[in-house]
Amino acid sequence: MARIEGALLAVEGVTQARVNLITETAIVVATSPELIVDRLIRAVRHAGYDAEVGRVGVTGTTGQIQPRRLRPQRRALIQAIGLALPVVGLEHLAPALGFDGAGGYLWWRVVQAILCLVLLVSSAGGPIVIGGLRALVHRRANRDLLVSLGVTVAFVASVISLLSPNATAFHFDTAAMIVGFIVLGRYLETRARREASQAVEMLTFEATGVGGASTVGRMLRAVEQAQTGQIRMQRIADRVLEVFVPVVFVLALITFAGWCIAAEAGGAQAGQAAGRLGWALGRAVAVLVIASPCAMGLAGPAALLVAAGRAALRGILVGDAAALEAASHLNAVLLDKTGTLTTGRPEVKDIFDEPVGAITKEPREVLQWTASAEQFSQHPLARAIVARAKECNLTLQDADEFANHPGSGIQAVIDGRTVLVGSVSLMTNHQVDLSAVESRVQQMSADGQTVVLLAIDGVCAGLIGLADAVRPGASRAAERIARLGLDLALVTGDQASTAAALAASVGVKDVHARMLPEEKLAEVRRRQERGQRVAFVGDGLNEAQALTAAEVGISFVAGTDVALESADITLLGDDLTLIPEAIELARRSMRIIKQNLFWAFFYNLVAIPLAAGGKIPPGIAAAVMMCSSIGVVLNSLRLRGRKS
Ligand code: ADP
Ligand code: MG
Repeated sequence: MARIEGALLAVEGVTQARVNLITETAIVVATSPELIVDRLIRAVRHAGYDAEVGRVGVTGTTGQIQPRRLRPQRRALIQAIGLALPVVGLEHLAPALGFDGAGGYLWWRVVQAILCLVLLVSSAGGPIVIGGLRALVHRRANRDLLVSLGVTVAFVASVISLLSPNATAFHFDTAAMIVGFIVLGRYLETRARREASQAVEMLTFEATGVGGASTVGRMLRAVEQAQTGQIRMQRIADRVLEVFVPVVFVLALITFAGWCIAAEAGGAQAGQAAGRLGWALGRAVAVLVIASPCAMGLAGPAALLVAAGRAALRGILVGDAAALEAASHLNAVLLDKTGTLTTGRPEVKDIFDEPVGAITKEPREVLQWTASAEQFSQHPLARAIVARAKECNLTLQDADEFANHPGSGIQAVIDGRTVLVGSVSLMTNHQVDLSAVESRVQQMSADGQTVVLLAIDGVCAGLIGLADAVRPGASRAAERIARLGLDLALVTGDQASTAAALAASVGVKDVHARMLPEEKLAEVRRRQERGQRVAFVGDGLNEAQALTAAEVGISFVAGTDVALESADITLLGDDLTLIPEAIELARRSMRIIKQNLFWAFFYNLVAIPLAAGGKIPPGIAAAVMMCSSIGVVLNSLRLRGRKS
């Protein structure tokens, strides 16, 4: 995989390349993809694989190259079985029927040779042999190389035996069985893979009701990326593979030499020696075939594909594989309040005018001034206030010289007066005297309301209380996050008492209030310095930096565009329990990948010595190898279930 990516990246104009073994796609980002497709395909071929063009220019600068769909797999399978069975059958039947005349010319060996030859050039064996040859020509080790070498050695040795009267290294049955099992394995693997990708395709489309067209596009991209990214573990496995293939080749040579020497030492007769040579060759072929590293290459991608599909079905869009990996090692989750713990659709509850300054004489006027100042703000509080003003048929005044105070409020000039709208800290910072409203602010915020204050020319002129419903599943989410062993904290720019009231209602104990955007970022950093890995959940308003700085930035799809761009995980729907669910799924995926890699390595560790020692016949070696890759795919499919 790293090899193909490297080859693609080497093509001029390519800025990014991601290869996925499971979906058999490579996504390439290039300056002018339509002009360089030919070069891209040549690069893939040069790396020892094959490819054809998928979609080009879907998202402007992204092209997708799709390696050729394996030829109708079923036909290959039928051919493989139809040709391999008679070869294997003859091997066992002919001697039993007495056709095995001592020495001389054995007609049924000729039949085997012809059938084998047809098999090797058919759509069953052809791709295997060609894939291996291509890898050899370009001196690139890939998963076809070992198998292909095994088949070729078995076949060529048998043909030589047929032509020279003394040699008896007949392995036609081995060559046939290897091809048969590989083709069967690939057929089963493709079926399992198809099942896995079907899950992905099905969510994608269910979820389209949630957002607009741009959201859908982004979602599709997210699902695609989740499958193409690579996690650290798999990168390590890939690097091991590059060394592994040559090592296996050497092991096969040693096996061959070892058995030959053993025969020599045993002082075999000339006739027997020829038989020993055949035996030694068989062991070497078994080693080549059994170690063919399909399982290792599939360990990560198979699990990631299934995980991405499962997540997408549940409304969790994982940005890439690295995000899934990061989500599995989290220690803490920091929740923003507005739009995250709450729905982000606050409603105006109370409006009070403040007679001290005597600028506003009634609540309607407070609403009008405030809404006029807020009319261009994107903040949920601003939208709620403007909406209420419209409901009350108030005409908004012209306002200019807007200034945003991120995380505390907004400033504008209306009717020649400086208007300040926002939090208590904003007012205090601008020396607005709040002594007259203090008790009222306390009272409203203890009730869980967010208080927005209005000051005109530095004098407090009124206040608006807004209430925002807590998202569904908040208490359950808090409980599950705690059970996963993670710290959970609320960080908000709002008043301490408002935050405390909301946090208490859902069972969050750690509350950080009056946090400006840079303080939210600082809180993320502080925890990271303590060695924690942090997820920040926010809607992107006033916390894009915190989202980016956190190991995992999580955002609801209804959030701002900024949030969608900086989030690693995007949640569709409203429910906060999607957060623990995403973390659980991430942990399960990593567990499955570790199992897969462990089994793939363990399998090789056990299987290679057995094959070298002559305990596994070469034909059976192919079957064992096939089971190991299918095992990896099946183990990954467990992620579709609720528990694993
Ligand atoms: P949170 O941390 O809950 O997401 P923000 O950081 O967006 O909240 O804002 C913190 C506080 O700043 C709000 O509770 C509100 O008092 C004040 N504030 C921020 N922006 C505005 C605005 N546009 N209008 C009024 N108040 C605002
Ligand atoms: Mg916010």
